[in-house]
Amino acid sequence: MNIQSNLEHIKAELPDNVTLVAVSKTKPNEDIMEAYNAGQRIFGENKVQEMTDKYEALPKDIAWHMIGHVQSNKIKYMAPFVSLIHGVDRMKLLKEINKQGEKNDRVINCLLQIKIAEEDSKFGMTADKAEEILNSDALANYKFVNITGVMGMATFTDDETQIRKEFSYLKTTFDKLKNYKSFNVNLETISMGMSGDYKIAIDSGSNMVRIGSSIFGKRD
Ligand SMILES: *Cc1c(COP(=O)(O)O)cnc(C)c1O
Repeated sequence: MNIQSNLEHIKAELPDNVTLVAVSKTKPNEDIMEAYNAGQRIFGENKVQEMTDKYEALPKDIAWHMIGHVQSNKIKYMAPFVSLIHGVDRMKLLKEINKQGEKNDRVINCLLQIKIAEEDSKFGMTADKAEEILNSDALANYKFVNITGVMGMATFTDDETQIRKEFSYLKTTFDKLKNYKSFNVNLETISMGMSGDYKIAIDSGSNMVRIGSSIFGKRD
């Protein structure tokens, strides 16, 4: 595995408006440093403890994205440094993110995770629920939260038609939600696409892809 050449290969394929999150979960710090030395600064992790350990050990100009399912009792550990939380799938989390943001005196960027896959195993809220949250009086009080977009994961399948359908549903949802705008709702990001489906995701309007194994190799 040559991390640097994998990264360069992928970056060359991404349009300028698409942000690359290098998903480094389960990978050692040496691998992350190889990507870092090749210019990568945004890394994605799915476990709070692992992300916090890496944050402490690695250069401080890395932007850490939490891409996994978030438990509210873990938010306090990442609140001092997390750059973007992708997996906000319920109102209760926003309340806790706001509380921990306030304690650390920093506004925490969040994406609302929308369920687009048919699989039951995937997390996320409905588009209606997202709309309800953006409209809610409670959100208007969360000064330490900034909702910057949406995130979704397609069904794990070889059926490209199915994947396209799910991604275009997320794009349509994003376009609809984008009408909501306030001091803490600024929807700009559509986080969709992983190693197996990022080209389809970009075709479907993604502007943030989360790529792990195509950069760092397979995980155990
Ligand atoms: C692991 C993970 C990825 C990256 O998956 P790859 O197939 O290795 O690119 C992207 N998004 C989420 C939410 C993940 O958990």
